[in-house]
Amino acid sequence: MASHIVGYPRMGPKRELKFALESFWDGKSSAEDLEKVAADLRSSIWKQMADAGIKYIPSNTFSYYDQVLDTTAMLGAVPPVYGWSGSEIGFDTYFSMARGNASAPAMEMTKWFDTNYHYIVPELGPDVNFSYASHKAVNEYKEAKALGVETVPVLVGPVSYLLLSKPAKGVDKTFPLISLLGKILPVYKEVVSELKAAGASWIQFDEPTLVTDLESLKLKAFSEAYSELESALSGLNVIIETYFADVPAEAYHILTSLKGISGFGFDLVRGTKTLDLIKGGFPTGKYLFAGVVDGRNIWANDLASSLATLESLEAVVGKDKLVVSTSCSLLHTAVDLVNEPKLDNEIKSWLAFAAQKVVEVNALAKALSGQKDEEFFSANAAAQASRKSSPRVTNEAVQKAATALKGSDHRRATNVSARLDAQQKKLNLPILPTTTIGSFPQTLELRRVRREYKAKKISEEDYISAIKEEINKVVKLQEELDIDVLVHGEPERNDMVEYFGEQLSGFAFTANGWVQSYGSRCVKPPIIYGDVSRPKPMTVFWSSTAQSMTSRPMKGMLTGPVTILNWSFVRNDQPRFETCYQIALAIKDEVEDLEKAGINVIQIDEAALREGVPLRKSEHAFYLDWAVHSFRITNCGVQDTTQIHTHMCYSNFNDIIHSIIDMDADVITIENSRSDEKLLSVFREGVKYGAGIGPGVYDIHSPRIPSTEEIADRVNKMLAVLETNILWVNPDCGLKTRKYAEVKPALQNMVSAAKLLRTQL
Ligand code: GLN
Ligand code: ZN
Repeated sequence: MASHIVGYPRMGPKRELKFALESFWDGKSSAEDLEKVAADLRSSIWKQMADAGIKYIPSNTFSYYDQVLDTTAMLGAVPPVYGWSGSEIGFDTYFSMARGNASAPAMEMTKWFDTNYHYIVPELGPDVNFSYASHKAVNEYKEAKALGVETVPVLVGPVSYLLLSKPAKGVDKTFPLISLLGKILPVYKEVVSELKAAGASWIQFDEPTLVTDLESLKLKAFSEAYSELESALSGLNVIIETYFADVPAEAYHILTSLKGISGFGFDLVRGTKTLDLIKGGFPTGKYLFAGVVDGRNIWANDLASSLATLESLEAVVGKDKLVVSTSCSLLHTAVDLVNEPKLDNEIKSWLAFAAQKVVEVNALAKALSGQKDEEFFSANAAAQASRKSSPRVTNEAVQKAATALKGSDHRRATNVSARLDAQQKKLNLPILPTTTIGSFPQTLELRRVRREYKAKKISEEDYISAIKEEINKVVKLQEELDIDVLVHGEPERNDMVEYFGEQLSGFAFTANGWVQSYGSRCVKPPIIYGDVSRPKPMTVFWSSTAQSMTSRPMKGMLTGPVTILNWSFVRNDQPRFETCYQIALAIKDEVEDLEKAGINVIQIDEAALREGVPLRKSEHAFYLDWAVHSFRITNCGVQDTTQIHTHMCYSNFNDIIHSIIDMDADVITIENSRSDEKLLSVFREGVKYGAGIGPGVYDIHSPRIPSTEEIADRVNKMLAVLETNILWVNPDCGLKTRKYAEVKPALQNMVSAAKLLRTQL
């Protein structure tokens, strides 16, 4: 019985690649230094998998930045602005595409399906001359072979590559990217033939777009592509790997009837319907790579249950054709539990990071072949049982309260226009009121104070006075700038989710549980392992302290339940919505305590609401329903005079505008630095919304300081679409990554622009 791993994290157990990359980019180390770190990481990963007994070990899943960019390099599809000479692509061209250079900005980056990983979007058009320009896949295969490890080279499949790309600048937006198939396949053929010559006997094409809603024309491209490749692939065993969701029935039938393919990989964690499709019919003589070990999460596998699934599949595909696998690349989980000395043993026994998942896959494969490691299985069963019964996981009162929310509705009693009137009487704001999104620059000094307090190097008293001083500075600055609705600046927060997670019960934090977000950037999601509750107020002290420093309205600042959920590793022993409802109830308590403490404006950030929208359209409505409901739960109990804001980062709102309106916030601020009028009209036309809208008037992601005229011009453009009485003036996101030298003049110009426009209206 065989085992297979779809892909493995690149960063290293302690983010070695991140530090090597950043040091290279800063000119502090050489290309050879970087290559050495990368080679060491690859070799230790291959050896680890080989030692664990994995049969099909992937290669070419390492990347210096991103696997889609690697494919762009392989195909020589470098946009002309990077001035590439046409020879083998090196670091210079590669990192220019990823990060920009002196004369050209970086290529666009976008979310990889519904993960928090971001890939570099290929920019293609009819004039691109594809050529075989990066031999990375072959080199890595050979590198592993030289180390004595036989691997399965992994390529982003040609159809998914095209479907994930966009028309290059100057190319018609309706250009059918899939029409480039005939042009890229010759390069794929060259790669395949080199891999064969190097001795490869298997090759894996990742075609995850097969799990999305594809029209027939695009589905047909898979048949075209693989029949075109068939002769080049002959003599090789070919796996087509899908992941992240169910494969729709039509796609399943097309996929499994492809000729010349030896095996198919499916995500059986998220794809329970795929399981039924397989049981309903699987081509004889083909391998099934059964993804039963979750690559998207950090929970230990329920081995007994996976074994039962696998045994049922054995009957369908045959004993010798069943391969135990991961649901997707392990890229999306943390690397190694070994580096978590601070997690207690009970919680640790419930977890499996990438290194542990490799062992699980192998244990399952061995069990299927009659060599079950009884000790390993019984330890796993004991851990599963302890998780089910642990009092740390279950809080009956919370369970009851959250379950009661299901199927019910919670919203404020009065409609938004009436509420805004009541609020205006209290707040007395000018038209085009100015505000900011929450955080102010986080100085090195501030980070030091927080770090030392956490490490107990400074007393609570000293910490409080340092933070108070910072808040006072931020409040005074905003008063000087004459901003209308103030914020406290969030100096006590390291991260908008972690800050709340640390104070809620049911959350655990890792020391090294990093997951790549893009390039060298990683995130360390909290782990939600138990029922969530709020032992005591989390922000009331700081918000009321800040309010006491000014007579202007001070916004209370909270992270919403959907964002906390979407940016965490979520428990898999109850539906996501139930966990979300629990968080919503905790945030509701906080909202009400803020209100009692005299905070009249409360912002509940839902930066990640859009991110959680499922891949398949058929699942959108259900998600949006409970997500929006969760948001409303947090503030359904406040008085009309309490103004609820929400903030969302840049995302495509067009298709979810009704849900955003259904959140029923009084004011919504969105990232809109591109001044997208279409986006604004969506807000305007979608429904007679009536609430306040603050589309960011300048881009905080850049150090550039916008002038008063420029901001006024932008606001004027917004006013052409939106009405004066609903428009707010604010930057497009929090200011924490900027410097005061940028923030002060930018905000000054923003306020001047608002004042200028007020005189003209
Ligand atoms: N209130 C948060 C801040 O200002 C919002 C951040 C975000 O939307 N990502 O930093
Ligand atoms: Zn934002």
